[in-house]
Amino acid sequence: MSNQTPDKTARYVLNTYARAPFVLARGEGMYLYDEDGKAYLDFTAGISVNALGHADPEIAAAVSQQIAQLSHVCNLYHSAPHADLAEALCARSFAGKVYFCNSGTEAVEAAIKFARKYARTIHGPGKTGIVAFSGSFHGRTVGALALTAREKYQAPFRPLMPGASFAPFDDLAAAEKLIGPDTCAVFVEPVQGEGGIHPASAEFLAGLRAACDRYGALLVFDEIQCGMGRTGKLWGYEHSGVTPDMMTLAKALGGGLPIGATLLTDRVADVLAPGDHGSTFAGGPVICRAAEVVLRRVSDPAMLAHVRAMGARLVEGLRGLNHPGIVEIRGLGLMIGVEFDREVAPLIAAGHARGLLMINAGPNVLRLMPPLIVDASHVAQFLDTFAAILAEQSA
Ligand SMILES: *Cc1c(COP(=O)(O)O)cnc(C)c1O
Repeated sequence: MSNQTPDKTARYVLNTYARAPFVLARGEGMYLYDEDGKAYLDFTAGISVNALGHADPEIAAAVSQQIAQLSHVCNLYHSAPHADLAEALCARSFAGKVYFCNSGTEAVEAAIKFARKYARTIHGPGKTGIVAFSGSFHGRTVGALALTAREKYQAPFRPLMPGASFAPFDDLAAAEKLIGPDTCAVFVEPVQGEGGIHPASAEFLAGLRAACDRYGALLVFDEIQCGMGRTGKLWGYEHSGVTPDMMTLAKALGGGLPIGATLLTDRVADVLAPGDHGSTFAGGPVICRAAEVVLRRVSDPAMLAHVRAMGARLVEGLRGLNHPGIVEIRGLGLMIGVEFDREVAPLIAAGHARGLLMINAGPNVLRLMPPLIVDASHVAQFLDTFAAILAEQSA
């Protein structure tokens, strides 16, 4: 394999990612192919992005049609795809309004601003505190990073946005001690992704809902990773029956193109006015047409039942491996974490050699998030390959 692209990346691209040593050139369905034509079974979905797999023909057609017709209008004008996608998101969720942006971290930044303005408008100044949780990941811009409980990510960039405090994840009593009259919002992932694939308990989310209501604080669910059908329900919050005041989306929403969205109740939306927030590219016609395709397909009850069935099959197969190094298998739907008693980096590298893409969530947790179109034959191929990797590593 030629090293041209890795060498060029090393020479010219800012070194903020440790990249695997091959160059991906093409994708189709559940597989990616490198420059030499080697196939990789994709159990990462581009970190929960490619819900419909790679090079989906319906997305390609929607994008091609729209880009040939109209690729960009700024947000000073109406465009039908923008309005259509907002309507579709509201029809399928708790929300009454949608704000579009271009990434997950931007969706979180928007939610922070909306919570601050809501608190100031309804309750007056000073109610600016935001509670988040250990193991959280909300993004890497200065506000979202302040809510991301990772010393390594925060330390070089302080001071960050003031007002953030952290309680242990899924510990309601600890959260109740932090939520008070000065709290404007509580940010939580219904299933933590980067933190190691940890579903929040329904009691925890219900308790946060009650504590927020007690103090007039807004409950914000970050579903950037766990939303869009990933857990076998369209939204992660549906497993608990608890609804938020705002929800952030990104990753899978655009079918591989960049988009973020902050969904709000009408009550929160009512405090916002023109000029409060905005973005040049946000909610452009091309990406909105792609997102409409993804949203329609992942909210199909048959697709969601398929996600639950494939998730159950995968977990059953993993348990059947009976590997002594596996500490715990957890998750919901096709958002699965396999915690080992050792670092998983060697397993991931061995996967690359055998044509299998996996990623981690923390040093000891293997994160399995295949495209939602994964079928029983792919699960079988994964389990065979993974068993071989485990056997080779123990030998
Ligand atoms: C990925 C992620 C983000 C950040 O999204 P970007 O698009 O990378 O900015 C925020 N929250 C959660 C839960 C995520 O998984």
